[in-house]
Amino acid sequence: MPLLIAIDGPVGAGKSTISDAVAQRLGILHLDTGAMYRAAGLAALRAGVSLDDEQAVSECVGRADISVRYEDGVQRTLLSGEDVTGALRTPEASDAASRVSQYPAVRRKLVEAQQRIARSTSLLMDGRDIGTVVLPDAPVKIYLTATAQARAARRMLQMREKGDQTPFEVILAEVNARDDRDMHRETDPLRQAEDAVVVDSSELNFEETVNAILRIVAERSAEA
Ligand code: C5P
Repeated sequence: MPLLIAIDGPVGAGKSTISDAVAQRLGILHLDTGAMYRAAGLAALRAGVSLDDEQAVSECVGRADISVRYEDGVQRTLLSGEDVTGALRTPEASDAASRVSQYPAVRRKLVEAQQRIARSTSLLMDGRDIGTVVLPDAPVKIYLTATAQARAARRMLQMREKGDQTPFEVILAEVNARDDRDMHRETDPLRQAEDAVVVDSSELNFEETVNAILRIVAERSAEA
């Protein structure tokens, strides 16, 4: 039986890197669904449509072919056949992803694609709506979170390493704005699934967080 693990949580909780490490240790693939929403945002940006125009964005994303493939176990994200993995981590792509992911037609398309991928293989999927919408029957569900302050502080550290001196207050405001959009959109808002186990990483380092999740996976898999 394929093993399915759902990890949801707010921006900056470390979902992507933590999920990568957990999946690697379990020897299963990691599907970063945020990358698919980022590719959808990029499709809209490249087409030059207004991100506030729901119909234009929905049509544009509807036409786009968004897919993933794995190279040596590492996810590559494709937009109409082009590998756009390297273009997805810019502030513009983050903002566009957060905006286009509010639209039901965009979500429908990507949720279906994610469910299709999960039918064929063991997978750890991370996102905002995995435990609630994409994989409601997943035997292991984690809600990975941390305080907004802790998430903004981590983000600041990453930015400083790249020489970016954006003030803490600005970063914190961005974290809060994205939380607000993710948690209050009408379609599939970010919320904790009733049967998810909460991991609060505010006081944990990387290794401790990975181990906490591996323990939950072992416990839940034993129960299933
Ligand atoms: O996880 P990441 O920050 O890369 O996701 C980018 C954006 O895509 C998020 O801000 C969120 O709005 C959206 N998203 C979503 N549902 C998911 C994954 C990401 O709405 N399952």
